[in-house]
Amino acid sequence: MKLENFAGNQKAVGLLRQGRLPQSSLFTGPEGVGKKTLALLLASLANCKNPSRNDLCGSCSSCVKAALGNHPDILLFQPQKDLIRIEVTRRLCREAQFRPFEGRLRFFLIDEAEKMTPEAAHSILKTLEEPPETSRLVLITAFPQRLLATIRSRCQSFPFRPLDRGQVRAYLEEHSEAEDLEVRAAFSEGSIGLALRLDTQEFVQNRDRMLDLLAAWCERESFALLYEKCEQQPLRTELKKREQVRNYVDLLQLLLQDLYFLQVGTAERVVNQDRIQDLDHLSANLELNWVRDFLYHVQGVKWDLDHYVNPLMCFETLWLMNRRKPSDAGSLYSKV
Ligand SMILES: [Zn+2]
Repeated sequence: MKLENFAGNQKAVGLLRQGRLPQSSLFTGPEGVGKKTLALLLASLANCKNPSRNDLCGSCSSCVKAALGNHPDILLFQPQKDLIRIEVTRRLCREAQFRPFEGRLRFFLIDEAEKMTPEAAHSILKTLEEPPETSRLVLITAFPQRLLATIRSRCQSFPFRPLDRGQVRAYLEEHSEAEDLEVRAAFSEGSIGLALRLDTQEFVQNRDRMLDLLAAWCERESFALLYEKCEQQPLRTELKKREQVRNYVDLLQLLLQDLYFLQVGTAERVVNQDRIQDLDHLSANLELNWVRDFLYHVQGVKWDLDHYVNPLMCFETLWLMNRRKPSDAGSLYSKV
């Protein structure tokens, strides 16, 4: 792959292709939008023996090694057992002092940089601040807020944005053999990585489960009914798992966004086009404010989930916070 094939985020790509990669940089943005891919391509470009028009050749010995992941001057560090430990960052700092073995610049990429332990993070501060002339450090993360402020302040940030649906679809058409392209593009949230990984069947099942809950809630606002539905399998088991609740909350957010699009009269932006009739029906009985407040509460619950509040509790309170009938206000469990 060459830089000219890189999809999305063309502004950042344009800047970086012209050789404006600072010595220490931080690539941020949602998962699957190409942060790591771009960092690797830039590392290849910097070491390519026959670059032309700010792009790598893809066929010189350096490009081939880079593509195979065994270029001695391009080092990728990733979490092991969900952590990047100090032994790893110490090795990085040592290696960063060496001159390139065969290329022009040595690259050190730290993927999922938020998984550095505090000791590991502290150990790279000095290297981030004053890397040797021939070394480039790129930290990659979807969660920059989890990094130490002292790390962030030593790097130049490059925020990556989600791609639009058309860009994802075009990319999939050209570069993948995946099926269900329409569904994948629609549910990718602008991430090619997610579009490729998506289990479309499971996705649709989970989405329909949330739509069913949402419709039931909008009709009756009965916690007893909601509870009954959540007690059925597979929800009963899944709602105890943090990752799964996160997933369901994401799906609810997608559905609520669609309700919002319908409320404001932009049906073409609806992602769940295959269920648009049901959504339209639902939307007719809702108020814009309610949809907006619900979306706001979804953000709050995501924060709670990230901060280890009990997942089932997060899921249940999300509904209880979103009642339309004023008589229920103030006594959340009174109708149980
Ligand atoms: Zn090359």
